[in-house]
Order: sequence, then C-alpha cells, then structure tokens
Amino acid sequence: MVITIELTNRQELILKIVQEEGPITGEQIAEKLNLTRATLRPDLSILTMAGYLEARPRVGYYYSGKKGNQLLKEMLNKMTVKDYKAVPVVIKEDTSVYDAIVTMFLEDVGTLYVVKERGTLAGIVSRKDLLKAAIGKQSLQDLPISVIMTRMPNIITCQIDDLLIEAANKLIQYQIDSIPVVKPLDNGEGLEVIGRITKTTIAKAFVELGKEKEV
Ligand code: ADP
Repeated sequence: MVITIELTNRQELILKIVQEEGPITGEQIAEKLNLTRATLRPDLSILTMAGYLEARPRVGYYYSGKKGNQLLKEMLNKMTVKDYKAVPVVIKEDTSVYDAIVTMFLEDVGTLYVVKERGTLAGIVSRKDLLKAAIGKQSLQDLPISVIMTRMPNIITCQIDDLLIEAANKLIQYQIDSIPVVKPLDNGEGLEVIGRITKTTIAKAFVELGKEKEV
C-alpha cells in the first residue's frame, strides 16, 4: 500500500529549499522562512518520516533523491575543523620530560603541544618521543621537553575553517596522530594553539556520519 501525504505550502517550500541548498540545518531553513526552529519542527518531522528528507547530525537535512556519492561529498564539505576540534593539552618549553609523561597520563592524550609565552606553538611531543627519551641515559627530571620535541617550523597544523577531511588527509599523509589547530597572530609573531584534531576526532566524526537524528 502506498500512502501519499498531502504536503502543505510550507512543507513544499521547505522541500524546495532543501533540494536547492541541502544539506542545510533546521536553523538555516527557519531563518530563510523567517520562522523559528520550533515552529518548523513538526514540518521537518513529517517530511523526514515520510521519506522526503533525511537528516545527519551537524550536517543538516538533505533531499533523499540525491545520489550517494554526491551526498557524501556534500556532507564532507560541510564538516569543518571548527565543529569537531578538541581542547588542546599544552605544556611549557621548560617542562621536564618526567612531568610531560605525567601530564600525558593525567590528561589521557597521546600527544602534547609545547607552547611559548602567550600560548604560541613551539613544538610537539608524541608517546614515542617520550619513550625514546626514557630509554636514554639522562635524568628525565632534568631534561627539558624542548630538547626532545619536534619543533617549529616542522609542525603540521590546521586552522578552524579547514575541512575536517583535509585534516584527516594530513594525518594519513604525514603519518601522525595529532594536528594542532592554530590561529596565526595578527602581528605575525607565531601561531596560537586553539585546538587539536586527532585520529579519535576523525573516528568520532565518521561514526556521527552514520547516525540519523534531528539536526
Ligand atoms: P607516535 O610517536 O606515538 O607514533 P606520532 O605518529 O603522532 O605518534 O608521531 C611521530 C613523530 O612525528 C613524533 O616524533 C612526533 O613528535 C612527530 N609529530 C607528531 N605530530 C606532528 C605534527 N602535527 N607535525 C609534525 N610532527 C609531528
């Protein structure tokens, strides 16, 4: 049995907007119609339940008639570093290797960012950098992290408006686990560390792509 649903004018309008501009969020549709998100909620539910629209968290509503490949591309093109970045875990240049190891355990991360005064990026240390130092002969309490870190300008970074897929590409290309999200300071005096993108970030975003819920 095929049930056809009579769409209201407003629902037709929503459908047209999503067809032309989707993926688009409920918030953005509401803005275009000069309505609130709450007013639109029943319409969006009906259109989604009836199969006209589909929804992906953080990406938006899209018209279900679109081909899979095109759809995936459009979804990936809406996922930016800004929406997925995690809080960076930073230490100062004069931190000892011993304290860096403790920080890595306490913060439960695999990579630490080393910053100068004012939070600008100086270097990065991974688990293996710390392991390497730990099997050396030096006292870890006396060894500053700046001696063993990978330092600027040899650090791969990304910025908030980059696409998440670009950051993921860098993780693969450079065989690293983590990329600092940075903001160049206006005076040209370095890169302020404002976030991090890791393999975990990408795995989370990947799982989210597979979920359907109201957006
Ligand atoms: P692990 O050492 O645990 O395998 P990574 O693969 O991330 O972790 O690190 C490999 C090497 O690359 C380390 O020496 C680390 O200092 C360096 N590294 C990690 N992240 C970056 C980055 N974003 N840019 C440049 N070098 C990095």
